[in-house]
Amino acid sequence: MFCYIKNMLIGILKEIHPGETRCAFLPSSVDRLVKKGAQIAVEAGLGATIGVSDEEYKKAGASIDARTHILKNADIILRLRKPPLEEIAQLKKGCIHISFLDPFHEKSLVEELAKKYISALSMEMIPRTTRAQKMDALSSQANLAGYVMVILAAQRLPKIFPLLMTPAGTIQPARVFVIGAGVAGLQAIATAKRLGARVEAFDTRPVVKEQVQSLGAKFVEIDLGETGQTAGGYAKALTPEQLEKQRQGMAKVCAQSDVVITTAQLFGRKAPVVLTKDMVAQMKSGSIIVDMAVESGGNVEGSKVNEEITTANGVRIIGLANLPGLVAVHASQMYSANLHNLLEEYWDQDSKTFKLNTDDEIIKGALITHGGQIVNEQLKK
Ligand code: NAD
Repeated sequence: MFCYIKNMLIGILKEIHPGETRCAFLPSSVDRLVKKGAQIAVEAGLGATIGVSDEEYKKAGASIDARTHILKNADIILRLRKPPLEEIAQLKKGCIHISFLDPFHEKSLVEELAKKYISALSMEMIPRTTRAQKMDALSSQANLAGYVMVILAAQRLPKIFPLLMTPAGTIQPARVFVIGAGVAGLQAIATAKRLGARVEAFDTRPVVKEQVQSLGAKFVEIDLGETGQTAGGYAKALTPEQLEKQRQGMAKVCAQSDVVITTAQLFGRKAPVVLTKDMVAQMKSGSIIVDMAVESGGNVEGSKVNEEITTANGVRIIGLANLPGLVAVHASQMYSANLHNLLEEYWDQDSKTFKLNTDDEIIKGALITHGGQIVNEQLKK
C-alpha cells in the first residue's frame, strides 16, 4: 500500500537533548532533495553546534522557520533523537516522523504517536540488509563510536600504543582487548591496530572470528557451546552458565591488557555484564576500560553514565554517553546521508513526494506506528 501527501513539506528540527552536538540534516542533503522538487523548512540554528549557518541552509534551498511552525505544518519531520512526549500533541495529524525512537523502551511515546495517527519510522529498526546499508544509522554512528573509544583510551593511558625501538630502550606495544566485535568493535580494532597496539578480541557470534583476524587482531578462543545469531544477524543472549564461562575465559586477557573496550549488545534488551568487579580488580593500575554499552545497562560492573571512575586498584572506567557526539561533524554528515538515502529510496519523481510503501521490507521493518495503530511486528512480539 502507498501513501502520498500532496505538496509535502519536510521539516527538520534542532536537537534539544542536553549535550547533543549532532545535527540531523546538512545543507548538502537539503540541496539533493530540493533538486528533486522537495520543499524543506529547517529550524533556525539547526546546524549551530557544528558550525553550519542558517545562510548555508538557505543557499541550499531551505526556508528557515520557528520550531512551533515546523511542528505544526510539516508532513515529514526529520530529527536525530526521539521526540519529547509533550511535542507529539503539536505534530500535524497523520504526518511521517523519522528519528531514532528507542521503541522497545518507550511504550508511552509509541502509544502517543499511534493516537495522533503519526507514521513513525524508527532509525534503529532499519533492517541490517545489504539494500538498507546506506540508511543504516546504527552502523554509521557505531562506526564512529568505535573510533572515539580508542582515541579516548589512548589519551588517558599513561603509555603509548606502538612498539618503539630507541637507543634508550624498547617500548612494547600496548595491549588492547575488544569485547564485542560488531560494527563498533571492528572499528575499534582497526583504529587500535593503526595506532600500533597489539589487539585481541572476542565475540559470541562465531562468524566474527574471521573478520577480527582479517584486521590483524587475535581472536580469543572460548568454548561456550552453541551461541549463534538471530535471523537479523544479532547475537543471541547467552545462558547464565555460558556468560560465567565467558567471564572466566576473558579474565586473564583483561588482567594482561592496558585497554579493554566493551561493545557487547543484545538488540532491544539490556546489555550483558561481561566484566565483573572481580575481573576489574585483577587488572593493572593505570589500565583503561571504555564501556560503550553504559547507556543500555552497562557491560562493566560499576560503570556509570557520563562518569569516569577510578577504582581502588587504579583502573579508570570511562562511561561516556553519546560517543558519536564527540565527532559531531562526521556523525551529522553520516546521519544526514542515512536520512537523505532513505527519502531518495522512496521518492516518487512524478508526484515529487516521499512514498511510504508499507509493503516494502525496509519500511515494514522500521515503521512503528501507522494509521492510528502500533504496526511493527517485532515490537508487538
Ligand atoms: P550490536 O551492537 O547489537 O552488538 C555488538 C556486538 O556485541 C555484536 O557483534 C554481538 O555479537 C556482540 N555480543 C553480544 N553479546 C556478547 C557477549 N556476551 N560477549 C561478547 N560479545 C557479545 O551489533 P551491531 O554492531 O549493531 O551488528 C549487529 C549485526 O548486524 C552484526 O552481525 C553485523 O555484522 C550486522 N550488520 C549487517 C549489516 C548489513 O549487512 N547491512 C550492516 C551492519 C551490521
